[in-house]
Amino acid sequence: MNNSRNIKDFTIATLGSHTALQILKGARDEGFKTICICERGKTEPYESFNVADEIITLEKYSDFFQIEQQLIDKNTILIPHGSFVAYIGPENIMKIKAMHYGTKEILNWESDRNKEREWLLGAGIKMPKVFSQPEDIDRTVIVKFHGADGGMGYFLANSPAEFHRKHQNYLAKNKSKAYMIQEYIVGVPVYSHYFYSPIDDTLEIMSFDKRYESNADSVGRVAAKDQVDVDIETSYTVTGNVPIVLRESLLPQIFKMGHNVIEKSRELTSGGLFGPFCLEGVIDPQLNYYIFEISARIVAGTNPYINGSPYTWLKYNEPMSTGRRIARDIKKAIETGQLSKVLG
Ligand code: ATP
Repeated sequence: MNNSRNIKDFTIATLGSHTALQILKGARDEGFKTICICERGKTEPYESFNVADEIITLEKYSDFFQIEQQLIDKNTILIPHGSFVAYIGPENIMKIKAMHYGTKEILNWESDRNKEREWLLGAGIKMPKVFSQPEDIDRTVIVKFHGADGGMGYFLANSPAEFHRKHQNYLAKNKSKAYMIQEYIVGVPVYSHYFYSPIDDTLEIMSFDKRYESNADSVGRVAAKDQVDVDIETSYTVTGNVPIVLRESLLPQIFKMGHNVIEKSRELTSGGLFGPFCLEGVIDPQLNYYIFEISARIVAGTNPYINGSPYTWLKYNEPMSTGRRIARDIKKAIETGQLSKVLG
């Protein structure tokens, strides 16, 4: 049935979290049947917003493989998102036999900090400098712990001595963890959302956002003296996303960065990067855009744009979320007999 050119023969599914609402609504708007795979007790948003034709409930997400055959029988195409990768585990993603939108291999490059750096630097992307040892610190740095839960425990330091003092404080309260010492870029955070269609061979800017992080986005509400007195520790727990429209003169650079990242990905993996992806970084006052992370899939920062962004409005003249854009790509691939081009 995978050779069918009728989208009615296919179902689109994802896990009920992260960007599932826009993925499922978008799929339905394009004419697909939809399935939402939820953990018990987490189905209400998907019922209330009525985006799924069917809801499959699991005791826990790690039971996913128990229902995989059901998905295969329904000719289901799975759409990965951030929580999908986190819940199933990057190593298990490779074992998925159901149809999977996007290159699985690319997820290995985005989830390993060293590989990610090799990819982005190879694509000519500006990145914050990384210091291999604390003694080399000669400017403001941010110390990031691996597997940090929402940036918990991250701290800033200006010298080796300050690093060691703050690291000791950290170790007094937390278990020892691997960390990365990265140049801290003073500027504004900007997350750039792209879509590259292998069917149309076009790169699109979908939207931009910044994260709304607790407590980093509220520290300014407390006077500096009080911050010191009560010993506030900055954390970066994401609670939501705030839309941004970027200064228009930056757009040529944003396009160029997207093209370069795709081009480089083709050297690293067989299929290369396609579908939605996001460059995450900070723009400094000289308008240098430093990227510290790439997400090779749909990001939650696209959620404010379920009805489309200013950029998708320019291009489509109809509501076009990133979720819907994915479904449209799949639809076109099916109808033109090129489905394998968008699966990986
Ligand atoms: P992940 O996105 O993998 O979950 P995380 O949320 O733990 O990672 P980051 O996204 O790397 O952490 O960063 C947390 C916060 O610190 C974000 O607000 C980000 O904008 C900011 N930040 C990260 N790196 C830098 C940097 N080099 N310079 C300035 N700000 C940074």
